[in-house]
Amino acid sequence: MQERVSAACDACGRPASSVAIVAASKTRSIETILEAHALGVNVFGESKMQEALPKIAALPQVERWRFIGKLQSNKVKFLAPFEALETLESPAQLKELAKLERPIEALIQVNIGREPQKSGILPENATEFVESALQCKQVSFRGFMTIGPAVRNAEEMRPYFRSLFALNERFGGTCLSMGMSDDFEVAIQEGSTHIRIGSALFGARHN
Ligand SMILES: *Cc1c(COP(=O)(O)O)cnc(C)c1O
Repeated sequence: MQERVSAACDACGRPASSVAIVAASKTRSIETILEAHALGVNVFGESKMQEALPKIAALPQVERWRFIGKLQSNKVKFLAPFEALETLESPAQLKELAKLERPIEALIQVNIGREPQKSGILPENATEFVESALQCKQVSFRGFMTIGPAVRNAEEMRPYFRSLFALNERFGGTCLSMGMSDDFEVAIQEGSTHIRIGSALFGARHN
């Protein structure tokens, strides 16, 4: 995986160190995560709090976890072991984040394809929501994250990635989490700093 990322970076003149691979480890076992860690994967993204907490507790050798799933505000209090919340999207989450004991890095999730069933704020609400995030003392705003629409061809993602990049520039973000197994090369070309990779790293998911 790291070779494919390095090649994609080379091809567009970016240093390989400018893109972090976040291993999307939902449904993967402790053993599988441990194997990936032994091979050099050191950042993992979990999607469900009740699944993540026991895994994190069982894997003290893994130091870096990011939360990448939908997060109910009543689960915000469990974010302590995570370095970042990539799916900030609601005032209710902000209210709970303010109660944390230490600041946490946060990316605001944007519903870039304007899909009714998807999480994330709409781009036109970014100004208002970034302002409220900046006022929350335990939130260190870093940038934006998106899960784009399902497309047949990775190239179709380019306009979505490009518009999220523009949004991130507008708000001075330094992190941009976009790109998954099927489209990370396009995401890297469009300025992604964090690609979230599941199946290309661990194989197809069966559950
Ligand atoms: C599962 C997941 C991914 C990884 O998806 P793949 O297509 O398997 O690479 C990325 N982001 C989020 C938020 C996920 O839940």
